[in-house]
Amino acid sequence: MSIEHRVASPDPDYSGLDGAHPREVIEWAARSIDRLAIATSFQSSGMVILHMLKDIRPDVPVLFIDTGFHFPETLKFRTKVVDLWDLKLVDLRGRHGSVEGQEREHGPKLFERNPGLCCHINKVEPLQEALEEFDGWLSGLRRDQSPLRSETPIVEAQMLPSGDEIMKVHPLAGWSSTDVLTYVRDNDIPTHPLFAKGFASIGCYPCTRAVGPDEDERAGRWDGQGKSECGIHTFGKTGGALETEAEQ
Ligand code: SF4
Repeated sequence: MSIEHRVASPDPDYSGLDGAHPREVIEWAARSIDRLAIATSFQSSGMVILHMLKDIRPDVPVLFIDTGFHFPETLKFRTKVVDLWDLKLVDLRGRHGSVEGQEREHGPKLFERNPGLCCHINKVEPLQEALEEFDGWLSGLRRDQSPLRSETPIVEAQMLPSGDEIMKVHPLAGWSSTDVLTYVRDNDIPTHPLFAKGFASIGCYPCTRAVGPDEDERAGRWDGQGKSECGIHTFGKTGGALETEAEQ
C-alpha cells in the first residue's frame, strides 16, 4: 500500500517575493499557508518578524525550543515578550523532558562530548515533531549571518521525518543586521538583554559566547566545537529553494 505524503504548497505563488519587503513576505505566508507557525528564540530577527506578524495574523503559534540550557535572561525575556504582545507560545521539549532526564540517559555535559547529539535531542527532534502539525513555518535566518547561510532563499521546501513536506519561509533573508537593528530602533522593539553585552547570537549557555566587533554574528556559537548550526535549519532540504520569479 502506498502512502501519500504532503508536498509543500501544491499551488504556490511566490512571484516577486525575492526582494520584497519582509512584511509582504509575511503577508504572503499568512495568506497562503493555512497551518502556519513561527519558531523563534526571541532574538532581534525573530522579534522583527513577530512584530510584523502579530498585526497580520496574531493567531500563529510561536514555537520556542526549550532545551533546558537557555540563559535565564532568555527565559525571562521570552515571558516578557509573550505578555507584551499576547503571543500564542508553545514550548517544545526534547524526548528526555529535562536536563536531569537527559543526564540519566547520556551522562553529564553531553553538550561537551557530543554537541551534535545534544542538539538533535533537544532542538531538532522536538521541532520536527511539532512541525508535523503545520504546513509551513517562519524563521529569522538571514544571508549575512554566516557563510553557511549566504544562500538562504526566501522560501524553501523542507521534508519532515514522516516524509511530508512543509514550507520554510525566511522573510528577512535579504536583510542585513543593520536593517534589523534599524527596524528594532524605529519601532521601539525590546531586545534580548544579552545583546547589549556583546552576544550577537544567543543560544544555550554552554555553547554561546559574546563576539567581538569584527567577528561573524554566529562566531560565538559552539566556538571550538567544530559546529556552526544546530540542525533545525539543515535537515530535510529537498532540493534547495522553491523558485521565485527572480531566481528562475
Ligand atoms: S546548543 Fe549546546 S546545550 Fe544546546 S542543545 Fe545544542 S549542544 Fe546542547
